[in-house]
Amino acid sequence: MQEENMAPEEVAAETPEVPEVPEAPEEPTALAHDRELSCQNCGAPLAYMEGESVITCPYCGTTTMLAGYDNIVKIDGHSMLPMAVNENDAISTLITWLSKGFFRSKSYVATAKLGSANGLMLPYWIVKSNAATSWHGKKKRTKTVGTGDKKKTQTWWEPVSGRFSEDFTWPEYARENPEEFWGIGNIQPGKKSVFPDWGKFWLKFGGSKNSPNRNMLDGQIPFDIEAVKKAGMADDLVNGQVTQDRAEANARGNIKTHQAKKAESKADVLSDVDTTVNVNKVDLVYVPMWEMKYTIDGKEYSALVDGAKKEVLSAEFPVSKKAKITIFDITLGIPALIAGIVGFSGAGSAAAKIVMFILVALMLAYSLMKGLGSKN
Ligand SMILES: [Zn+2]
Repeated sequence: MQEENMAPEEVAAETPEVPEVPEAPEEPTALAHDRELSCQNCGAPLAYMEGESVITCPYCGTTTMLAGYDNIVKIDGHSMLPMAVNENDAISTLITWLSKGFFRSKSYVATAKLGSANGLMLPYWIVKSNAATSWHGKKKRTKTVGTGDKKKTQTWWEPVSGRFSEDFTWPEYARENPEEFWGIGNIQPGKKSVFPDWGKFWLKFGGSKNSPNRNMLDGQIPFDIEAVKKAGMADDLVNGQVTQDRAEANARGNIKTHQAKKAESKADVLSDVDTTVNVNKVDLVYVPMWEMKYTIDGKEYSALVDGAKKEVLSAEFPVSKKAKITIFDITLGIPALIAGIVGFSGAGSAAAKIVMFILVALMLAYSLMKGLGSKN
């Protein structure tokens, strides 16, 4: 007890008086804002922009993460998807895609003009996870009761509930602005990725698509700067700005939203949805992409082609004239058929006959006008 009380006094007594030293001149402020650091592996200077926090060395391929001031972390588990699609492959992938399907047209092979093809190596945080969702809601049910004149329909709400779970390799773009290259945010599961341009056509039925839940780690290899250099993409490496923690938090939120949307389709009224996201691993993966611009009939469209497999990830396209004619004819054809049946059956209504002839005439006129006017 006594000793303890004594100790501070003794220390205080023995502490030599610190002589006053003139303050050291401050470091030039330019250094504090210098956006250059040395590679943790090879020592090469790494220039980077303010806000960038995930920096890949263009010489040796080591990736460094700036996790706050003075906190430099070398990322070990960083990988890439190999670039298997060169510029010509990317162009032919897009053209093939444009020539297929009900809404597009073979004539686009001849009419599409390439504006630009921009090869990129983009950093994504791939959040390998499982999401388990449970939901409760109500479904509207109806049944017919009674017979004859007393027949009536009863409606009631039946409580329904369920669970479902899904595995994800959820991609979170590792940079702040998902608009800086066209379509790169559209690869998340459930995001709209295919955008039909209907022009002035008003019967806009279908043609759009949402991104599937792809395995973003399919074909994953350790990051290999030599392979990137060989593909001529070392200058197209883009540094990340979003740190791993933030990417994981964003992914959790986005996965919950995605699961909640899926739950909505399972009941007429949803009372609650609860999703638990279990994250197994978060990988920094460089994904090769081709950002393409092209024109058809003078109008510009964008597309994003996977640089790892020959696949269109996201795209805008003009709906073909053939698809419009077909949709127009079906939409008018059904009422025309009904009018025809009414008009020519039994007593036959003159008005229905007239309606049918008008609709058929419109169909023919529209088909001829559009069909003869253009190759598409
Ligand atoms: Zn290096």
